Amino acid sequence: MRELTLSELETIVSEVGEARYRARQVMHWLWRHQASSLEEMREVPARLRQYLAQNYRLGHLTVSHVAHAADGTRKLLFRLADGAGIEGVIIPTHDRTTLCISSQVGCAMACEFCATARMGLVRNLKASEILGQIIAASTQCTQAERLTNYVFMGMGEPLANYPNLARALTVMTAEWGLAVSPRRITVSTVGLAPVMERLLAEFPVNLAVSLHATSDELRNQLVPINRRYPLAHLLESCRQLPLGHRRRITFEYVMLQGVNDSPADAVRLARLVAPLKCKINLIFFNPFPGAPFQPTPRSRIEEFQAILLSRNLTATIRESRGAEIAAACGQLYAQARMPRSRLTGLNHCPSPSDTRETQPPTLL
Ligand code: SAH
Repeated sequence: MRELTLSELETIVSEVGEARYRARQVMHWLWRHQASSLEEMREVPARLRQYLAQNYRLGHLTVSHVAHAADGTRKLLFRLADGAGIEGVIIPTHDRTTLCISSQVGCAMACEFCATARMGLVRNLKASEILGQIIAASTQCTQAERLTNYVFMGMGEPLANYPNLARALTVMTAEWGLAVSPRRITVSTVGLAPVMERLLAEFPVNLAVSLHATSDELRNQLVPINRRYPLAHLLESCRQLPLGHRRRITFEYVMLQGVNDSPADAVRLARLVAPLKCKINLIFFNPFPGAPFQPTPRSRIEEFQAILLSRNLTATIRESRGAEIAAACGQLYAQARMPRSRLTGLNHCPSPSDTRETQPPTLL
């Protein structure tokens, strides 16, 4: 039921002979009160509640495990109705609380440094399951740390599940829904160029693009979708995106030792993104067993950053805190579902945001 828009619910309500304004009442209970049952919706007529109960589900996700990091970050394992598991992360900082959301079970993009890729794509999440993560995560938050920001940096490629993402964004941003400002939402993509354009034409959200390489040769290997949307195509699409005057694209760049982290890479990166309104987020690689990469040491990341800064680019380094729950995250899956050997599928742990307001946290 949480995937419905107001006008869809109004149609349903009128079809059963109730006044249209009842739809708003139901929405109010669903999103402002985050009701967990129809019975709670006191002023909604019993007949309507009954009809809804018989024909729709409130779509509850269960939080099956929570892993706590010392800095307040919590990694959640959500259990879906069909038994599948997905992860979310609550990241409280001094001025906001960010929820990292999954868009698919597994992922089809096959990025070489990404553990989720090894699961392959199991299935798309429904809009109600995307939104259900928010409701379920809210139950884990204290009053002081109500969720304020949302990043689609969990499992999956959000733009490969566009219809469900769009429906979820509609509900998240609607005044009758969660009423979240689109500026507080970041969608991270591997770079599905045509869908990026559609997303920004329909929702003024923030966009993060996972770049990770400065040549087609290397990006073809690290991020295979580059074969379909090579760097020149991707960056030209980025240049043409309808960004508001204040907004910039974030380019994510995972630092892989000896692979994409040389000073020459930094110079090429600076050249590539120079025509764009953007910022670059340098990310510590989060290693997992069997991964064919090592993280670049901090000093080398700082040198890389210095080159970007010297060329007047905005470049931040994403700290890898909460590492202890990255480990726990594998354990969560082990206990919950998979044999231990498959566990590394879950490296998607965002680190707490430690940068300025506009900077979305990133999964590590
Ligand atoms: N599919 C989307 C969103 C999910 S991944 C995307 O590709 O952007 C979110 C971010 O985490 C991406 O930038 C991704 O490249 C990065 N990431 C994946 N595996 C990682 C790892 N092992 N260490 C650090 N970052 C990783």
